[in-house]
Amino acid sequence: MLFSQEESPFGQALTPVQCLHYALTRPAVAAVMVGVSSQEQIQATVAYATASDAEKDYSEILANAPDASFRGHCMYCGHCAPYSKKIDIAAVNKYLDLALIQEAVPETLKDHYALLNHHARECIACGQCIVNCPFGVPIIEKMKQAVTVFGK
Ligand code: SF4
Repeated sequence: MLFSQEESPFGQALTPVQCLHYALTRPAVAAVMVGVSSQEQIQATVAYATASDAEKDYSEILANAPDASFRGHCMYCGHCAPYSKKIDIAAVNKYLDLALIQEAVPETLKDHYALLNHHARECIACGQCIVNCPFGVPIIEKMKQAVTVFGK
């Protein structure tokens, strides 16, 4: 999502170098594991090693983020728990977000979703999770979307 101009909660896309720099400059972070699926993504990652300070700088993007940019975006924080139907909403939202930025849903992602103990289809739209969510995520809609994407 962060790489997408449309999906980024900061109102503009970040580069892989900027994301790596953000992660590596958090307190106590010593290393970052990167997931890649193409040679281009590997090259975009190793570009960090030779990137200039200006290329690493993410501060302007964060500083200019719209105030309400995180509203409606799941942060996978889990504050919506406990769930009346025991669905792990944070995990469902995470797999859904990962699926929606792919052209086709990877089999590994489908497998991860399938391994959840409870699936979005079990949602009874009670709305309790929405009351607890500090980010205004339309959770019931997200659960319906997950059913469409993952089939259950
Ligand atoms: S739906 Fe809201 S409360 Fe639940 S994990 Fe996402 S951001 Fe957190």
